[in-house]
Amino acid sequence: MKNTINLYSMNILIIDDSANSSILLKAILKKFKNIFPIACYNSAQALLKKEDIDLILLSYVLPNISGTEACRRIAERYEDIPIIMVTANAGIETLQSSFENGAIDYIAKPFKGPELIARVQAHLIRKHISDERKKIAITDSLTQIYNRRHFDTIFEHFYARASSESKRLSFFMIDIDNFKKYNDNYGHQKGDDTLQQVASALDVQLHRTDDYLFRLGGEEFAILLYDTPDAFLHNLSKNIHQAIESLNIEHKFNEDFGQLSISLGVASTICGQGVSKFMIYNAADEQLYKSKERGRRQTHFIDL
Ligand code: GH3
Ligand code: MG
Ligand code: MG
Repeated sequence: MKNTINLYSMNILIIDDSANSSILLKAILKKFKNIFPIACYNSAQALLKKEDIDLILLSYVLPNISGTEACRRIAERYEDIPIIMVTANAGIETLQSSFENGAIDYIAKPFKGPELIARVQAHLIRKHISDERKKIAITDSLTQIYNRRHFDTIFEHFYARASSESKRLSFFMIDIDNFKKYNDNYGHQKGDDTLQQVASALDVQLHRTDDYLFRLGGEEFAILLYDTPDAFLHNLSKNIHQAIESLNIEHKFNEDFGQLSISLGVASTICGQGVSKFMIYNAADEQLYKSKERGRRQTHFIDL
């Protein structure tokens, strides 16, 4: 995970209908390369959907909507983005209503350059740290792919979405074959290296934004796919087996294969017809068991 912090490339949104004020803010913050000046709330909403904004400077006075109402709506929808209220005066009522509506800070006109820069920097640093913490919480430290915790979140989210949209949800359960023997014979460190290699090989097989790879724990991985046709599932399984074979990792104690292999169980269903999340999970587990029982290095599928 990248840990260097480049504050000046973080994305700052200025929402202010006064061109003068906007130009002045931009000039003071000239070291920051990614500033988006926007004159009204509606355009700001559109931009927030498109860009990953790290900080918002929001004018207290806007056309068609009050600054505090805009603040309330943005804070509710984008709770992770700090909002600094830009006010004409720092009267106590202005401040109170800003903070009550979700602003984290304020800056009053006339702007004092160094103060504005210091506040912006402080909030960007906090935002960066908070983003990193969130990433770490959902990442497996050995393989750098998503962890079990994130699997639970995404599985829940996909299942709810697929149920309401009557879409297909597919779940691959993947388990390295005879991995205990691999560790026992080649050592735990080599085992860890191999887990990393397998994770990367699986990762490069997934290309769409709604394709997710996780390490469930130990030598078990999972893939969740949203709205994916049957043919794609079979193809993916074939490619995954090939990718692991191409790694050509020696494993003399893995059946008769001589190299490392994996087994898969795949369950797929169009959600919204009474098949629970629990049933999908168990079905994949059963198919995986079948793959193991019938000789490993293979996949069994079930359409529920
Ligand atoms: P099967 O083909 O039936 O899946 O057999 P298996 O030996 O792979 O399955 P089993 O569940 O008996 O053993 C899993 C082994 O995975 C146990 C442990 O040695 C290894 N393992 C689990 N987590 C880690 C890890 O983080 N690092 C390393 N190096 N090994 C791990
Ligand atoms: Mg296992
Ligand atoms: Mg195993």
